[in-house]
Amino acid sequence: MPFGNTHNKLKLKYPAEEEYPDLSQHNNHMAKVLTPEMYANLRDKETSSGFTLDDVIQTGVDNPGHPFIMTVGCVAGDEETYEVFKDLLDPVIEDRHGGYKPSDKHKTDLNPENLQVGNTLPASPNMSSVVFQGGDNLDQNYVLSSRVRTGRSIRGFCLPPHCSRGERRAIENLSIECLDALEGDLKGKYYALKNMLEEEQQQLIDDHFLFDKPVSPLLLASGMARDWPDGRGIWHNDNKTFLVWVNEEDHLRVISMQKGGNIREVFNRFCTGLTKIEALFKERSHEFMWNEHLGYVLTCPSNLGTGLRAGVHVKLPNLSKHDKFGEILQKLRLQKRGTGGVDTAAVGGVFDISNADRLGFSEVELVQMVVDGIKLLVDMEKRLEAGDSIDDLMPEQK
Ligand code: ADP
Ligand code: MG
Repeated sequence: MPFGNTHNKLKLKYPAEEEYPDLSQHNNHMAKVLTPEMYANLRDKETSSGFTLDDVIQTGVDNPGHPFIMTVGCVAGDEETYEVFKDLLDPVIEDRHGGYKPSDKHKTDLNPENLQVGNTLPASPNMSSVVFQGGDNLDQNYVLSSRVRTGRSIRGFCLPPHCSRGERRAIENLSIECLDALEGDLKGKYYALKNMLEEEQQQLIDDHFLFDKPVSPLLLASGMARDWPDGRGIWHNDNKTFLVWVNEEDHLRVISMQKGGNIREVFNRFCTGLTKIEALFKERSHEFMWNEHLGYVLTCPSNLGTGLRAGVHVKLPNLSKHDKFGEILQKLRLQKRGTGGVDTAAVGGVFDISNADRLGFSEVELVQMVVDGIKLLVDMEKRLEAGDSIDDLMPEQK
């Protein structure tokens, strides 16, 4: 594991330029922003828990690029990281989040009633569907499953790249106590990774419920996989429609998912469950990390704000071969992944399509973007399937 030399204080005997990482082959947001001057200014700073600049950037140094997405190339080790290293992180955030400025304020909207219902698109005689129903009727012949997730961090503990074994176990115990208080549809049970059989773990991964083993180089190089599987686990309700990952990339990952195309129902459950969880932590005097500017504070700067990724597994065998596929996704502010997670490629024309943004838009706005975007992608797929052109369906830049 490449992580680990960062607390070597002897390195300060060398001039900054001799410690400066070789970023010549790199294509990530950190590498675009970091300069030798910035490195020299920040390299002897640390947060009160002892997180340093080298800790922030190590994952981006060890992972020059990613085959499918433009990665951020840095992580936070605690809540203070975003303040102490803001000379680097503010421009990274601005670059990753479409020009989001240090003075901008984030908005939160976890009221699913605010999703649009029965909205009519600008009339176009060629559109095959014109009524957008707010996400309860995505075409199940194409949309196989729907999912909404976010992360939450518990104030006062270091984040996964930097937390100690004791902190991690304390987070696990606190999370179990809170989650066990959920009732009704949300009532569930915690499964610690270390008590799970290999086959059980693999089955949950194959069924898309559980995070992957620590194989991702992004995860490894950031230090998040230390002590694996200690303190990690999954909590879920009986029918596995509401799940919480404990101590993977974030303290908590809260997930609502189900088969088919009713992302509205998924979002409803997500909002209800998340609000209850927050209240349960508060009752025990624990707040989530949050501020007006960054919204919810998470490990990866790409997840700041809402932390929300709403997505579907959708069959697009024809559209995905079209030369404008990438451009269409970008115009709709959507991102594609393979169906096995961020490190996988699509198989058989099935993609995980989700919102590209996290910050600067509310949760409702992001889900709406996915609903509207997926409707259009499915319409396009149907046109291409029938051998027709999609030229008149090309979207404007959202
Ligand atoms: P994230 O980090 O946003 O949770 P990943 O890309 O790491 O997402 O994937 C985590 C797991 O969630 C993978 O097993 C993936 O297949 C599953 N997953 C993501 N989106 C969906 C979806 N719409 N339907 C079913 N499973 C999904
Ligand atoms: Mg992930």
